[in-house]
Amino acid sequence: VGSEFSLIEKYFRTAPRKAALGVGDDCALLYAKPGVQLAVSTDVLNEGTHFTAGADPRKLGHKALAVNLSDLAAMGADPAYALLALSLPLADEAWVAAFADGFFGLARQYGVDLVGGDTTRGPLSICVTVLGEVPSGLALRRDGAQPGDDLWVSGATGEAALGLEIVQGRLRLPDAAAQTCIARLDTPAPRVELGGRLRGVAHSAIDISDGLLADVGHVARASGVAIRVEANALPVTGALAACEDPQLRLACMVGGGDDYELAFTAPADRRDEVLLIAAELSLPVHRIGAVMRGEAEAVLVDRHGGRVSVPRRGYDHFAATP
Ligand code: ADP
Ligand code: MG
Repeated sequence: VGSEFSLIEKYFRTAPRKAALGVGDDCALLYAKPGVQLAVSTDVLNEGTHFTAGADPRKLGHKALAVNLSDLAAMGADPAYALLALSLPLADEAWVAAFADGFFGLARQYGVDLVGGDTTRGPLSICVTVLGEVPSGLALRRDGAQPGDDLWVSGATGEAALGLEIVQGRLRLPDAAAQTCIARLDTPAPRVELGGRLRGVAHSAIDISDGLLADVGHVARASGVAIRVEANALPVTGALAACEDPQLRLACMVGGGDDYELAFTAPADRRDEVLLIAAELSLPVHRIGAVMRGEAEAVLVDRHGGRVSVPRRGYDHFAATP
């Protein structure tokens, strides 16, 4: 058990690579570059809501940063800085060491400087703030989708939600599939490189944290367009195929959440470019729908264009439980 200051010194004070001044003073100092906008986002993970008591601190450190980097990816911003506000029930040094290990593993991968934060006593809660850089005017926004755009998704959705079914004891899958799904839930990989490469190519983007249909719905409403999502075009990985309940599989794919994939729209004449970027990144992308004029919402359709109803559209912390 250590003091607040020794924990900060030992685990969170690292030499900044980009910042003028990092952890240790009253504020960090960042360079404001001409022609660059800073993309800023914050996300909280609370014990009991986002993870269960006793969750692996190394995985929590990774995920707390990953979900924030995913927001930067969705804007097409290059990650640069992070702040970390930690509320801890006690100064458990082994917990902090493992948490820092998971956090900095991902921070180093993307050259992110941890430049500040706060450490307090209280119920376990992790709040990360990230700042990313994007050339002025080139951020990928939710309100940029245009009729005639294709709708794309990176990777595949649904595995993390199946992972949650498994860890909560409602589903059994063969070992390899189960491990894939649980890893997607615990240690998501933010699509940072893809977001950056889509600047100037995609018209709009969002990261899928609350469920594909719910998040694509946000793009539809922000852009004032209708977006059709074709159920038959959604990618089905081996792990998803291992789930033998087709209703559960579809529900997880379109409404599961915690995917941290990117959904984006791009003009049809840039299809080849999108596919080339995906090939260069070894990250599959699938064309799963289309943007059109019409009521500003996302609709799931079958191969004949008929509406497909789904049991659950996405996660809302304040929605009544079904
Ligand atoms: P103050 O009381 O002036 O806000 P603190 O004593 O809370 O400063 O923090 C000292 C320094 O350590 C500050 O630079 C702060 O940003 C940094 N810091 C505190 N907690 C964390 C943390 N969990 N991760 C990174 N930096 C932290
Ligand atoms: Mg303080």
